[in-house]
Amino acid sequence: MKQKLLIFIFSLSLALSLTAKTSIQKIEPMNWWVGMKNPNLQLMIYGENIASTQPELNYPGVELKKVNRVDNPNYLFLDLVIDAATEPGNISILFKEGKKSRLKYTYELKPRNTKQNIHQGFNASDVIYLLMPDRFSNGNPDNDSTKDTREKDDRSNPNGRHGGDLQGVINHMDYIADMGFTALWLNPFLENNQEAYSYHGYAISDFYKVDSRHGSNELFVDLVDKAHEKGVKVIMDMIFNHWGIAHWMMKDLPEQDWIHQHESFFRSNFRGPVVSDPYASEYDTKQMLTGWFDVNMPDLNQKNPLLSTYLIQNTIWWIEYAGLDGIRVDTQPYPYKEFMADWAKAVMAEYPTFNIVGEAWLQKILITSYFQGGAKNKDGYDSHMPAVTDFPMFNAINAAFNQNEGWSEGLAQLYYVLAQDFAYANPSNLLIFPDNHDLNRYYESMNKDFNKYKMGLAFLLTTRGIPQIYYGTEILMDGQEHQGHGFIRKDFPGGWAGDTINAFTGNGLSPMQKEAQAFVKKLLNWRKNNDVIHKGKLVHFLPNEGVYVMFRHTDDQAVMLVLNNNNEQAKELDANRYREILSKYKTGNEIITGTAVNDLNKITVPAKSAMIIELSK
Ligand code: CA
Repeated sequence: MKQKLLIFIFSLSLALSLTAKTSIQKIEPMNWWVGMKNPNLQLMIYGENIASTQPELNYPGVELKKVNRVDNPNYLFLDLVIDAATEPGNISILFKEGKKSRLKYTYELKPRNTKQNIHQGFNASDVIYLLMPDRFSNGNPDNDSTKDTREKDDRSNPNGRHGGDLQGVINHMDYIADMGFTALWLNPFLENNQEAYSYHGYAISDFYKVDSRHGSNELFVDLVDKAHEKGVKVIMDMIFNHWGIAHWMMKDLPEQDWIHQHESFFRSNFRGPVVSDPYASEYDTKQMLTGWFDVNMPDLNQKNPLLSTYLIQNTIWWIEYAGLDGIRVDTQPYPYKEFMADWAKAVMAEYPTFNIVGEAWLQKILITSYFQGGAKNKDGYDSHMPAVTDFPMFNAINAAFNQNEGWSEGLAQLYYVLAQDFAYANPSNLLIFPDNHDLNRYYESMNKDFNKYKMGLAFLLTTRGIPQIYYGTEILMDGQEHQGHGFIRKDFPGGWAGDTINAFTGNGLSPMQKEAQAFVKKLLNWRKNNDVIHKGKLVHFLPNEGVYVMFRHTDDQAVMLVLNNNNEQAKELDANRYREILSKYKTGNEIITGTAVNDLNKITVPAKSAMIIELSK
């Protein structure tokens, strides 16, 4: 009896739902392109009761191969195959109930993006400027608070929104290019419609939409175009581990298993080593991979094939739409590693000239190397991620100049990191950095010692890898992470109307800040056209008595870095030790001071300082 009643109720609700009004609220991706290498496209259709319809389309070269229905009747996922010879145009998709057409949707297949200088990738010839869009420059005060977003601007709150935006970045692209940066990594700027802490951008509520407080999708394309015009590549920050609690799908998930659901709040253990640990427990693995990053950041289950495809296509969409040059992937070890590899493989297959750096925030070299594509891992895992962040090098740079010299302390920190490069599939494709948006400001880590600051940057800009510099480092911005993230993400002076200090013009900067800015500018512009730094071999010599010497060299070019970590003692180098390189050259030019080195047998390096000597035959 009970069963019959249930069947009756079910039939009744089915009948009601069929007569309920169907509609389409979203189709994603919003458009696609003809002539992609991967002919497959999966459209996500969202609309009330859309699953009660049967979609049909008729377009030359496009086949509707499969219609996927899920638990939630408000979604359909259409598998399309687009033949290589398909012409761009508009596809009419009919949504039928029986023989009746309920709805018609026009879906655009565009021609490929043929702009100049797109999809360039980035490499060791670049230096990347990392900036947080909310904190760099407010180019449009009218969008500081917007109608379609919840959190309003409050510049007095270190963790609030300060009004910075994409227009601000566009306005200062000349500054970025003139400083000598050749690539720009923006912290995320897609919609984060949280009530609070939305400024950092890592809790996305719409993967296809630039936050209205940062601008618009179209304005982001303008930013990329402007950057390319100035010789600056653009790297987009993407997040696949989680999305924001305010994500529009959270109110109406396609399937419950798009999110890792737990009986009560279950936080990740944030322990990346678990992923490669041959002895990892099931408990730790589950906590690492399915625990939430934060209460406001639901953890995505990329094992769901529809979600996996949704995320991969979203990436391809942004690359093609905006003409991106690269991607920085947030929290690489946190999503399922098989998904992350599938994702990277798909992106690199579509865009072979591209580059991607995974944020592998791991302390140990072997664990970091596990996550770089091409690694010969014992378990057979290949992440296909061309580049990863070099946190061991970050740790070494921050330790080296603050420690007394010892067998493995001080400059030996740098030596030991480089000496272990055999672990990496591609050491020159490691992202090296003295700090970033999650870490103590570099100048702060150097205890506000300008000499240490210069030594660290001299090393960063001459050693192997792709240097990244965080906005404000060039003007000695300070701030400690434990004070709160807002303190390491302060507003860049001059970015807001009425700022009394303006780092873009130099107005109001202290003499030391000006010197730091000139120092960074000089080194970057020197490095920019210096092939020997981009591609040259690296030879270094064991640190001795607080002095560390490294060369970058090719058959006919060489640059010598000398670091003296002694607090008071100047050191004259024993030229004999360095004969294997120096004997091929006669003189040199020291880049930082611009002075000639006339006798390579008599090089004296002052206490607590760096010399970068370009050698001449
Ligand atoms: Ca603004």
